[in-house]
Amino acid sequence: MLQEEEVELMLEQGGIPISQLCNSSVNIDLLQCPICFNILWKPIACGQDRCFSSFCQYCIESWLNQKNAQSTFEEEEETFANESNCPKCKRLFIKTEIPLVKVLLSQIELKCVHSDCTQVIPYEEYENHIVNCKERKKQCRGCQQYILQNKLEEHESQCSQIPVECQKCHKRMPKCDLESKHDKYNCIENLFKIQDQQLENLYTQYLMCDDMVNYYEEKIARMMKGDLIILNEYNFFTIFTANYQFTTDNLYIARLVRNSYNHNKQKNDFLHFYVDYHFTTGLEGYEWKSRVIRLRGNLLIGVCSSQLSNSVDFIVNRLGEVKKKEENDNRYHIIRKVNFTFGEGDVIRFQILPFMQCLRITNETRHLTFCFNRNELQEMGDQYFSFFSLEYQGDALQFL
Ligand SMILES: [Zn+2]
Ligand SMILES: [Zn+2]
Ligand SMILES: [Zn+2]
Ligand SMILES: [Zn+2]
Ligand SMILES: [Zn+2]
Repeated sequence: MLQEEEVELMLEQGGIPISQLCNSSVNIDLLQCPICFNILWKPIACGQDRCFSSFCQYCIESWLNQKNAQSTFEEEEETFANESNCPKCKRLFIKTEIPLVKVLLSQIELKCVHSDCTQVIPYEEYENHIVNCKERKKQCRGCQQYILQNKLEEHESQCSQIPVECQKCHKRMPKCDLESKHDKYNCIENLFKIQDQQLENLYTQYLMCDDMVNYYEEKIARMMKGDLIILNEYNFFTIFTANYQFTTDNLYIARLVRNSYNHNKQKNDFLHFYVDYHFTTGLEGYEWKSRVIRLRGNLLIGVCSSQLSNSVDFIVNRLGEVKKKEENDNRYHIIRKVNFTFGEGDVIRFQILPFMQCLRITNETRHLTFCFNRNELQEMGDQYFSFFSLEYQGDALQFL
């Protein structure tokens, strides 16, 4: 017979002690787990030929997991048994089931593990019997004693050690303490302790909020002054690599060296590149400037936001046309016309002012300003990137 703790462990992990075997015409050596040396419990076998060793499910799984955990620490050690190898044959463990083992197991009979139970049970019914056996004892949540499982409910309802909660202060304690020791002073003291703890938490939160307020106030003050992070380490990204030439030795020039004529549309396509890729609408603002070096075709200045395959773009062109391209659309549609234009030699300033939810484009040479409005940026979510699209061969922008 096993101790109740051992029974619980066996139910969890498996491996029936050989001593439980009752009568067997079967050679038990075949049914023993090579890890725990008990009778196989929910057997799993190694599928490598000439091995076919069976293990308890729990034993082999924990063996493999343990090897896994070790191998991450002992990378250098040339372990002959690496993470998923069979403990017997040392080859890769390929999980399989062996019908013969099951047949043999089904022929054995076992004594019940619970003391006071005299039943002999066929292997296949063993787990079910042990779990439901009327002699099975379970631990009381209060006094920790093992009580017959069908008496446990009754016992716990009367056990003086069972944990209960005070309805007023919600402190948990053994029932006997609540009845004898937990008087109203004790209860009030607990309530005060809880209140103190809550106050302390609130105060910590208050301090954190205070720090945040200071942080944002500082940021806002900087934003209001128009303090922006000025980008002058330009990075350009484009999928039209062959069509653009970027000079980055002090003079940051992006030049379209090969245009792309679209025969269907009977016009040039716009080829685009991105500057410093994408921005999140944090509190930092960004600005950069470019000079239009040459412009024979049109130039689109835009922002775009992509979510997976969908993207939303807005652009403004030299004619002051503000256009939008919807998700999965390949054409821009005009949404309004503004008094904004630019041409060769003009210096264009690009500002992202997240605090004001604004993307401002200024033609410094002609003193013209254009803003993509709040709604347009909101439509793009938190992340977007800016781009420039050129149309004609030789057209170029210089980044200042
Ligand atoms: Zn085992
Ligand atoms: Zn093996
Ligand atoms: Zn029993
Ligand atoms: Zn108890
Ligand atoms: Zn209380």
